[in-house]
Amino acid sequence: MPEAVDQPVTRPIQAHIDIAALRHNHALARRHAGKARMWSVIKANGYGHGALRIARGLEQVADGFALLELDTALALRAQGIRQPLLLLEGFYNTDELQAFAQQHLIPVVHRLDQAEALVRSDFSLPVYLKLNTGMNRLGLNVDELAAALDLLRGYEITLMTHFSDADEGLGIDDQMQCLKKMHRGRDYPLCLANSAALLRFPEALGDWVRPGIMLYGASPFPWMKSAAEIGLRPVMTLTSELIAVRDLQPGDRVGYGGAFVAEHRMTIGIVACGYGDGYPRHAPTGTPILVNGQRTRTVGRVSMDKICVDLTDIAAARVGSPVILWSEGLSSDEVAASAGTVSYELFCALAARVPVVEQG
Ligand SMILES: *Cc1c(COP(=O)(O)O)cnc(C)c1O
Repeated sequence: MPEAVDQPVTRPIQAHIDIAALRHNHALARRHAGKARMWSVIKANGYGHGALRIARGLEQVADGFALLELDTALALRAQGIRQPLLLLEGFYNTDELQAFAQQHLIPVVHRLDQAEALVRSDFSLPVYLKLNTGMNRLGLNVDELAAALDLLRGYEITLMTHFSDADEGLGIDDQMQCLKKMHRGRDYPLCLANSAALLRFPEALGDWVRPGIMLYGASPFPWMKSAAEIGLRPVMTLTSELIAVRDLQPGDRVGYGGAFVAEHRMTIGIVACGYGDGYPRHAPTGTPILVNGQRTRTVGRVSMDKICVDLTDIAAARVGSPVILWSEGLSSDEVAASAGTVSYELFCALAARVPVVEQG
């Protein structure tokens, strides 16, 4: 961020973070979790919402927070966050172990050599052992699990795995079978479900669940069930204003590359928001957007600082008219789908230059 100066931000774009909605979503996740305890996932700066802001908002109700940035974890501790903190990629370098021990951070151990390094270090931390059950990114396979458990005798161990298709047709059966084989004859606690599994597979929660996206009020599977249908409330609302209004004649081109050409006389508005603010550049003409509370469509290419919108049916629109990029009534999931992406990416892309206003 730039140095603080007296001049306040005057560009009209703002992100509003609704803490009451966050708590509502957490309570909903809690009902789905039943007896399982819950890591609230706040990686990537709380999915763009502000990790500290989210941790503070859930401080009274969260069992623990999961993230993977050590600097953020230490900042949370420095700000007085006392909940257990789970570091989802563990430590990258053994130099970090001292900070893990001092600040009571729980590492995910996903390679055998990390288990060896931990034992050599003499720091006795609780450990989450990550198992590869079919996603093939991080995690120990069957043989490595036996070796790691041998090494880590006396450590407090939880076994975790991550589902690759909890939101898709394939589901979790194959991975659960693999997990059962690895867990058989062992009675370590399990940490399994992300948001999608938490909502779809109540039989596969484990002792700890790890919801992320649903806490922020977006659906983990918007093509099957919308966030509203799940009962979630959006936490982030992105608003701006029209900073220009202009009339077009047939044949007039709009924006870079003239990606939109007016077919008849029409009026468009120019919104102070672009990909430099986190709006998806790939959102094509036709992406839904609200002006004066009325639904309309974007026209032409998204540029760094501006989007153009069709005002044909919004005669009352003027410079200064309110614009909503996503919120209640126009979900981030809808905008994301139009741009060929997911709400996760929209949220994470929220740019540092966008002022954040907290409410609730
Ligand atoms: C990000 C993440 C989650 C949360 O996933 P959502 O789909 O946002 O609920 C859970 N577990 C791990 C290991 C993760 O990296």
